[in-house]
Amino acid sequence: MKDFQYLFSAQQVVFGPGSLSKIAEVTEQFHLKRMMLFTTKGFRTRGYVDSIENMLGERLVVAYDQVQPHVQDFQVREALAIAEEQQIDAVIGLGGGSAVGIAKAISLALEEKRTGSPAKAAFPTEQPLIPVIAIPTTYAGSEMTPVYGITHEQGTIKRKITVKDVKITPKLTIYDPELTLELPQGVTAGSGINAFAHCIEALYSITKNPLSTAAALGGIRSIGQSLVQCVVDGRSLAARTEMLNGSFLAGVALSNVDMGLHHGICHVLGGSAGVSHGDANSIMLSHVMRFNLDVTANELALAAEAMGISTVGMSAEEAGAASADRVAEWVKQMNLPSRLRDVGVDKTDIPHLAKVAFESRTVRNNPKRIENVEQLEQLLQAAW
Ligand code: NAD
Repeated sequence: MKDFQYLFSAQQVVFGPGSLSKIAEVTEQFHLKRMMLFTTKGFRTRGYVDSIENMLGERLVVAYDQVQPHVQDFQVREALAIAEEQQIDAVIGLGGGSAVGIAKAISLALEEKRTGSPAKAAFPTEQPLIPVIAIPTTYAGSEMTPVYGITHEQGTIKRKITVKDVKITPKLTIYDPELTLELPQGVTAGSGINAFAHCIEALYSITKNPLSTAAALGGIRSIGQSLVQCVVDGRSLAARTEMLNGSFLAGVALSNVDMGLHHGICHVLGGSAGVSHGDANSIMLSHVMRFNLDVTANELALAAEAMGISTVGMSAEEAGAASADRVAEWVKQMNLPSRLRDVGVDKTDIPHLAKVAFESRTVRNNPKRIENVEQLEQLLQAAW
């Protein structure tokens, strides 16, 4: 048994089909009176914003329904001015990682405005004054984490910066699988494989702990049973419920451990080669699992069992390799890209991408030590 550290965040989670209808009741317990909702146009069109407005009545003072992907800094400035003027006391993010992300950004920015100084938490367990409420509708996992990314634009250069602070971990998360019934196939598959990757990298993380391991294995089980079915038949409430349960567990696993090579390299592919996060995840995951196999065979063998693979008579290495093969099969079944060349990565860029990845802290947190940049070049070549 390894030594470990675990930080509990006080979070209320409400899970189940139809649980959005409990929003008035649960937010009442927090005595919230001036809430601001962040979401995308689609949720307005599909009637969900009206429905939340009806349920919360005058306790919802603003609905900002123009959220763009990846938390744009100009939108944070615009929304912050409205939030200040309306003296809001809580932010709600309804949508994927982008809607939840901007809600987190506003919570932190309001705290900085109030105190006049950077709002870094003095104690790891300190809670925010402007709580974040998350209503996730994809499988990205932001609803359980103390992190958001913000995109800053200067002239033609865009840079995405990650902000981490325990105070922005949502205090209340409402998981309603009914909200995911119309999640498009591409986002279902891409954010779903991303949630699965959170479980795999939590399982072999250098900072893993008993709770992250338990959550990761539960997440692998649920996602393994439901992801492909959600892509094939998005209207299946049973599959959507199982998948959202898996994504909750993936979020729990992710929230308390360091990710490794897979996540580090996916961020480099997104930031430096313009590959979408879902595509990067589907292309790289099975390659990284094979790369890490000699050091993480025991963990990947556990993953294989949780995926329902019959591992009787197999060595840990064989079982771990079977789990990587199964991931590659899922990617094919879901029609996701499986080669970097198919998503616009130029072969001649590989040495540069490998160099950037070699400098990434997340890549350095990989359980198998990366000794030299050539190892990463080979990995990217194999995925090309
Ligand atoms: P997203 O939030 O950008 O949403 C993608 C699109 O799907 C949007 O147009 C949205 O309106 C639509 N959509 C979302 N849910 C829908 C539904 N149920 N039905 C129909 N349409 C729906 O995508 P995402 O993949 O959830 O999030 C990606 C962002 O989240 C990235 O910026 C990523 O970096 C970030 N992220 C953050 C964390 C974290 O811990 N903070 C974790 C993972 C991802």
